[in-house]
Amino acid sequence: MITETKDHAALADDFNKDEDRVNWHDETLWWIRQKRDKAVNRLPDWELLRDTASAIKDNVLSNLSAYLQEFEMKAQNNGIIVHWAADAEAHNKIVLDLLNAKGIKQMVKSKSMLTEECHLNEYLEDNNIEVIDSDLGERIVQLAKEPPSHIVLPCIHKKKEEIGELFHLHLGTAKGNADPQYLTETARQHLRDIFMTRRAALTGVNFAIAETGEFVVCTNEGNADMGAHLADIHIASMGIEKIIPERKHLGVFLRLLTRSATGQPITTYSSHYSKPRDSKEIHIIIVDNGRSKQLGRADFRNSLKCIRCGACMNTCPVYRRSGGHSYHNAISGPIGAILAPNLDMEKFADLPFASTLCGSCSNVCPVKIDIHQQLYKWRQVIVQNGHAPAAKKAAMKLMSITLSSPFLYHTGGKAGRLILRFAPFAVNNRFNPWFKQRDMPAPPDQSFGEWYAKNR
Ligand code: SF4
Repeated sequence: MITETKDHAALADDFNKDEDRVNWHDETLWWIRQKRDKAVNRLPDWELLRDTASAIKDNVLSNLSAYLQEFEMKAQNNGIIVHWAADAEAHNKIVLDLLNAKGIKQMVKSKSMLTEECHLNEYLEDNNIEVIDSDLGERIVQLAKEPPSHIVLPCIHKKKEEIGELFHLHLGTAKGNADPQYLTETARQHLRDIFMTRRAALTGVNFAIAETGEFVVCTNEGNADMGAHLADIHIASMGIEKIIPERKHLGVFLRLLTRSATGQPITTYSSHYSKPRDSKEIHIIIVDNGRSKQLGRADFRNSLKCIRCGACMNTCPVYRRSGGHSYHNAISGPIGAILAPNLDMEKFADLPFASTLCGSCSNVCPVKIDIHQQLYKWRQVIVQNGHAPAAKKAAMKLMSITLSSPFLYHTGGKAGRLILRFAPFAVNNRFNPWFKQRDMPAPPDQSFGEWYAKNR
């Protein structure tokens, strides 16, 4: 993945080279945000639902180990085999061992951001296992050899003509035909053959219920059900934070999830898995991969409340105009920017700065995560840990010296106004990214301090 070597600003710059793409990406996501608003406004109890969901998750985070153990016991009583994975490597190895034990070389997989986080596909392919993603958007990015750019809409960055071209190359559709119905029907037939022939299916988990030991997978395409029902072995991967205490709590989360994600009243399929059918197996892998560490960070533990609806991405002005790949992490957008530094603070030090801190993400979050405040806090932690870029550190030091000295502040202001008036090219040049897409306002004749001294 080429995105590994560049930071958010450089990757956003790449995305911004195609202005048409940026504009419709921005408009499409904003349209989804508006659909979300309409769906939300039809529910008078929306704020109560958000408060309730947030409180349920507070309880879960405070009693996580107890709920996880309760879930394990109930799931085992139901005949589900439970595995624990401390990190991505352990998770991937468990999946590989399960497949190897059955001599399975091909697996179908529905959407699971956890497996993206663990880079499961690459790992299995390196070990000679073929993985076919069955979510349509995921299949499209898989054919394009790209990571998903959005947690709910994995190929939102792609134009339908590009998808038509991909399908022509890989699935034999007519060249130049980008009709969405035609392409979707082709994908449906292509995936149908795969569902019928794969003996293993992997799904994600949206909610795992401690009280009953069952888990719920939400999809709009029914692809998780097709895979899991037709395969001999169903593997479900879940992060430890996916637990909810009781089945009755599902009503709260299911009403919030899809309204926030796409503006639908409910996901088309909300499938409950509680026990394997005769002669079949269900395995669930409960994965930590840094989540316990995040739980121990008082300022950031609330990020584990996330139900992965994507609303914070759809509303974020930076995400909409920089694209999901610019976050160079499996989870992009505002929530990705507060989760990623926990995994690798140095590698993802740029992400909390990829925000205007406008707070729109926190306003739409169905579980009331204080996302923009965490972005702001991460900036401080990153600087304190020495991960800010050298140029930024030097600029901040200079700013600190200038703002601490009235003489330097006034002299600097005067000098700046003179330079802008008589030598604007000294600041307005190609080395200064601020001016790339902005007009320089005319410098004022006097500073506010000078005006105030004369007019007070
Ligand atoms: S942080 Fe909130 S808005 Fe963003 S994906 Fe998670 S639940 Fe949705």
